[in-house]
Amino acid sequence: MTTTATATTYKNFIDGEWVASRSGRTFENRNPANTDDLIGLFQHSTAEDVHAAIEAAARAYETWRLVPAPKRAEILFRAAQLLVDRKEEYARDMTREMGKILNETRGDVQEAIDMTFYMAGEGRRMFGQTVPSELRSKFAMSIRQPLGVSSIITPWNFPMAIPSWKIAPALVCGNTVVFKPASQTPLSALNFVKALTDAGVPKGVVNLVTGDGPDVGTPMTTDPAVRVVSFTGSTTVGRIVNEASAPSFKKVHLEMGGKNVIMIMDDANLELAVDGCLWGGFGTTGQRCTAASRVVVHEKVYRAFVDAFVARARTLKVGDGLLDETEMGPSNSDPQLQTVMKYVKVGQDEGARLAVGGHRLDRGSLAKGYFHEPTIFVDVDPKMRVAREEIFGPVVSVIPCRSLDEAVAIGNSVEYGLSASIYTQDINRAFAAMRDLYTGIFYVNAPTIGAEVHLPFGGTKNTGNGHREAGVAALDVFSEWKSIYIDFSGKLQRAQIDVEQI
Ligand code: NAD
Repeated sequence: MTTTATATTYKNFIDGEWVASRSGRTFENRNPANTDDLIGLFQHSTAEDVHAAIEAAARAYETWRLVPAPKRAEILFRAAQLLVDRKEEYARDMTREMGKILNETRGDVQEAIDMTFYMAGEGRRMFGQTVPSELRSKFAMSIRQPLGVSSIITPWNFPMAIPSWKIAPALVCGNTVVFKPASQTPLSALNFVKALTDAGVPKGVVNLVTGDGPDVGTPMTTDPAVRVVSFTGSTTVGRIVNEASAPSFKKVHLEMGGKNVIMIMDDANLELAVDGCLWGGFGTTGQRCTAASRVVVHEKVYRAFVDAFVARARTLKVGDGLLDETEMGPSNSDPQLQTVMKYVKVGQDEGARLAVGGHRLDRGSLAKGYFHEPTIFVDVDPKMRVAREEIFGPVVSVIPCRSLDEAVAIGNSVEYGLSASIYTQDINRAFAAMRDLYTGIFYVNAPTIGAEVHLPFGGTKNTGNGHREAGVAALDVFSEWKSIYIDFSGKLQRAQIDVEQI
């Protein structure tokens, strides 16, 4: 067992230096699969640290914005190569601090690799527009301009992928960054920043400040020098971030909660659907914004589906994500586990039928972690809280329906709009559902999870505020348009208009 006295102390990264917080305080980062395992001590930062980071980023912006985009991109390309070299080490660090199984943390680092390579490619594209001018001796075009200092605030469930989705496009567009990761996963954030700095990102261009949401996040959203805020996290905190950023008119990009639906029609390949629901519902211990926490099933196949789904969930191997045999890791923290247990009770009190799971696992090798059984409620009414509210844990609600129209209405009946999916062999139903589900992402014959970095990612309603990450859409968050008119007539403006009007 590591004690506080022997643990490694990790620092903030400000203006090219690893520095301690001016508070003199640190916080602990422990393994959610075994809380005896102390991963390290991280800086408990204050507004003073954040302002130092913002000042460094503002200074660095004046030179970074002038580095040609293809050169900025070369640094990103080198960072992606370093991530490839360090993938296994960083995945293991991530499983230790976040809990999800190794195959998933390898996927998380891979997302960061893919995004960093992809944005390196954008350095040689970053297309603007050239359009004809109204006048014969004039050129007209628009180019992308960076905004300045970017505040990047991220959650713990994708500790490297989500930061990379924001930081790589911010940098290639010419912005500088102040980055605050979730306090549950600061090591993966630090690993990502290390890859960037080892690749040659100049001092002050990327700054890392760890600490509490309100302490660190508030100055990142209120300081007038910050021009863009990109946040991923809960809808509750997203609203706070949005309001705090509004008085100084920052551009705000929000990716928030989800309550995603898989719809299973009576002609679906049930084996495929059960497999999709298993990994969509219990992958990452249900702690994905895209988790399939609702499954709406046509009454004709309802019984067969429920029997097969419950049987598969019963056999899922829960344990430490570092072990090869583990299929589902712990909840990320005690509060997260308490939320799961609270919703199990809420579901039972509402009259949903518990078909499997429903209990904390705390015996033997699981005694020191935040483990919970994969849990399925069946015969759920779509109005119940377990069917409407984000739980962010291994709890799936199965809801019967009589038709595609009813399934779509149930799918749309929640406040969120991130991801949805349909299992059917009927192309007409698939297209109708794709058109009518009001979500940012839609899948056919696949679960609600799994994104590719060159497509836009994000949600509607209370999941997002109209922006998207990934793809070219991410450049829209981290750049703004400048329109340019080049007059080569050499004539006075007034005279030129008169001539053109003849
Ligand atoms: P959270 O909202 O609690 O925290 C997110 C980040 O905001 C953390 O870094 C936190 O420290 C910070 N924060 C907290 N208070 C703040 C404040 N007052 N000002 C500024 N920053 C503050 O979310 P979480 O528990 O880390 O992550 C889980 C949530 O994230 C879920 O709701 C999940 O759906 C959502 N999520 C969404 C997406 C998406 O793309 N839509 C992706 C992943 C996770």
